[in-house]
Formats: sequence, structure tokens, C-alpha cells
Amino acid sequence: MQLISSTAIRGPAPSYDKKEQLFASLCHEIRNPLNAIVGLSRIMGKQASPERQSECLHVLEQSAAMLEELLNDVLDFTRIDAGMMALESTPLDLTLLVEETAQMVAPRAREKNVGLHVHCPVVPLLEGDPLRLRQIILNLLGNAVKFTESGFISLFVQADPAPDGSYRIRMTVTDTGIGIPEDKQGTIFDEFRQADTAISSQYGGSGLGLAICKRLLEMMGGSISVVSMPGAGSQFTALLSLSVARQTMAA
Ligand code: ADP
Repeated sequence: MQLISSTAIRGPAPSYDKKEQLFASLCHEIRNPLNAIVGLSRIMGKQASPERQSECLHVLEQSAAMLEELLNDVLDFTRIDAGMMALESTPLDLTLLVEETAQMVAPRAREKNVGLHVHCPVVPLLEGDPLRLRQIILNLLGNAVKFTESGFISLFVQADPAPDGSYRIRMTVTDTGIGIPEDKQGTIFDEFRQADTAISSQYGGSGLGLAICKRLLEMMGGSISVVSMPGAGSQFTALLSLSVARQTMAA
């Protein structure tokens, strides 16, 4: 992939209060998976049956994956917050990126017997940061699958050419999951905020995914919003503009 240019967005360093808050939330989020790892390792050390061993191994793997996800999210979030996250500007095939990202959540949706519908129009090669765009879509789709037990999830992408030659991208992720109470819809985009901590600890998660999506979209000049009804489902909409890749224009 050819790197055309790179933009570093720098902001103020996180304040001490914010760092303290981040540290406290982090300790809290680490505790559950770490407790599980310590407890299960002890059980496995004793002479447990092969079935019990493989059960323990499964939960051990899940707990380790949770810690890895948390660490990646914290690293990303602190880099963004310190203004040290650089966005790439490189040619990207939006249709391919959307399809490939949806494929990453397809096995989990299938396992849960939840339908997955994806639509993305064919557009010329655009310019943006494919890695971060994938991260945003994956987070929204991942949450949709995580919080949906039956019905469907969908990713609908609209790309409209604008008079300035760029494309206005509207990505909508809809699900028929547990939904989000109205009074929590405004705070879930803040770091370490979960609509319902009891429900979220059952599903797992860092509470950083949406904060990262929001910050990344803002760095791209875009925005994110949600409409949701508890018990009926949620719809997240990400808006951004992407210019047509220079090589496409030249052609
Ligand atoms: P997490 O890793 O906890 O999922 P996020 O920042 O991605 O963190 O989401 C924050 C919270 O927003 C979640 O814990 C959940 O309460 C709520 N949420 C996000 N997406 C959905 C969804 N599709 N359906 C229901 N609740 C959601």
C-alpha cells in the first residue's frame, strides 16, 4: 500500500485528573479477567478432569483475549488523547474494506444465529486511513453482534459524490439487540462508559471502543451518533468525507 502523506493531530496532554481516572478504570477493568486467569490456573494445576481442563482453557483464552483487547484499546486511546495518533492518507477501496471487515464478524454472528446484511456501493478509489476506518467499522459491528441475541445486524454504506469532488460517506450499523436506555445514549461515547455495567461485564468489553471511534472520526472531520430503543435495538451512524484518490483523478 502506498503512503501518500501522513497527518499527526496533536492536542493537549491528558491532565493529571484524567490520567488518574483512566488508571482507576483500567485497574477495575483488568481485575475480572486477571482474577479468572489466576483462579483457573490454580484449578488446572490441581488434578482436574479432561473436560474441566478444556473448560478452564476456553475461559483462560477468553480472559487473555479480553486483556489483550483492553491493552490495545488503552494504547490507542492514550495515543489519540495525547495527540500522538497519526492518520494515514492512502488509497482505499471502500467496498473491499467494508466486505472484508464484515467477514471478520461473520463467524460470531453465525454462531449466535444472528443474520448479517451488508451493503456498500461501488465507488472510485478513495483516500483515507484504511486501518482506522476498519477499526471503526469493526468496533460498531463487533458491538452489534455482542449485544444482539436474535434477529439481525446490518451495515449499510451510502457514498454520495459532493460538488467539491469528495464523497460523503454514511455508514449505518443497525441491530435488533438489547438497545441502550435514552439517558445513557449521550455518555456511551465517553471513555470507560458502559450503558449498564452489570450487562457489560456479562458481555465483556473495555468501554473504550466507542470513545476511540468518536475521536478517530473527529480526526477525520466526521462524526458519530446513535438512536436506540431498549429491547428493540440500536442504530449507529458514522459520517465522514473522503476525497477521491489522486491516482483515480489522474486516470
Ligand atoms: P465496550 O467495549 O464496553 O462494548 P464501547 O465503548 O464499544 O465499549 O461501548 C460502550 C457501551 O455502549 C457498551 O458497554 C454498551 O453498554 C453500549 N453499546 C455499544 N454498542 C451497543 C449496541 N450495539 N447495543 C447495545 N449497547 C451498546
